[in-house]
Amino acid sequence: MTLVADLHIHSRFSRACSRNLTMPNLWAWAQIKGIDLLTVADFTHPFWFKEICEQLEEIDSGVYHLKESFKKNTDIIIPKSCQKEMRFFLSTEISLIYKKGEKVRKIHHIIMSPNLDIAAKINVALEKRGNIRSDGRPILGLDSKELLKMLLNISPDIQLIPAHVWTPHFAIFGSKTGFDSVEECFEELSDHICALETGLSSDPAMNYRISKNDKYVLVSNSDAHSLQKLGREATLFDTEATYPSILNALRKDHQKVKGTIEFFPEEGKYHADGLRDEQLCLDPKETKELNFTSPYSGKKITVGVLHRIDDLADRRQDKKSASVKPYWSIIPLQEIIGEILGVGVNSKKAQAKYFDLIEKIGSEFYILKDATISEISKFDEIMGLAIKRMREGNVIIKPGYDGEFGVIKLFSEGEIGERSQMKLKL
Ligand SMILES: [Zn+2]
Repeated sequence: MTLVADLHIHSRFSRACSRNLTMPNLWAWAQIKGIDLLTVADFTHPFWFKEICEQLEEIDSGVYHLKESFKKNTDIIIPKSCQKEMRFFLSTEISLIYKKGEKVRKIHHIIMSPNLDIAAKINVALEKRGNIRSDGRPILGLDSKELLKMLLNISPDIQLIPAHVWTPHFAIFGSKTGFDSVEECFEELSDHICALETGLSSDPAMNYRISKNDKYVLVSNSDAHSLQKLGREATLFDTEATYPSILNALRKDHQKVKGTIEFFPEEGKYHADGLRDEQLCLDPKETKELNFTSPYSGKKITVGVLHRIDDLADRRQDKKSASVKPYWSIIPLQEIIGEILGVGVNSKKAQAKYFDLIEKIGSEFYILKDATISEISKFDEIMGLAIKRMREGNVIIKPGYDGEFGVIKLFSEGEIGERSQMKLKL
């Protein structure tokens, strides 16, 4: 059975996150999206941890159901077409700031816990090292290696995964505050790292260019700050939905990681180089020609993920390589609807269309990845064409840079208007 898993999101107790991120809403939206296994996130936060303990019950090793009595507390009704057995498991994100090698390091890591008892022990240990109460993603002044050592002392079944590894400001390989390799960061404990989260701005083909990372399994997750963004990236596992099975796939049996669901990496907000304030978007070659400095203000240009990978790469890009696991590049369904209707992604019109489609066809992942084009076209011809183009990679790209999201479009300027006019004439 293939499981769609999202190992990294946030709760409403993390900074800049939606108030609607409650456990019942997560349970409902995971099904709408087509997710089988969703992290509860932010288990280090005392209020959220209390909710986790009250509202979930363990149904198998390290995986949890929402208790029956909380299922009616959702903001929406889950369409029949999407209802499935959804399980929660425990992982959380920690932000570290520390100095190593004369450089300030700012790095985010995902921590997976085998169960609630171990999560409680992690919380006790972290509380001694900093403030875990003010933010669901706490900032601690701990060295990555120290954190990992501390976690392994609590339980060998805890897994640390470096998060969104290429993000310039907050990642293990980030251009601003990161390292060039896992070994530089974790030294003699490096063997305990088995997976890397690629983040929105890179995909497996880009990561393939660095051969020293071949030994790591690549995972993708949404890092969602709102319900609508759950599963915008995800990892596919061919395992049972239990913590030991997922851990085994990540650590030993990499064949059981079937691949990933990905953004087009250009849509990520750190793909290209540039400066957001100056609307300056550059490719790596242009940045080098400008000597990393803005020609307008003299400010230092933020080096994006494409450039950073280019610098560390020892292979040319080759999307067909056998060693790259399958991956599906998608555009979130709300964005496709927004483009077709010419309205904002969060508008009432787009929302209504979204629910109409999933009610008739199935969950968002089913529509984006699995449904046949004729199945979609039966309900909406232009949507069928849009999904076909997306699956073929036939897209129009404006890359993201320096914190500004990129834009991926499926239709050229005026094309949708022309198509609907032609239809009226027929
Ligand atoms: Zn992060």
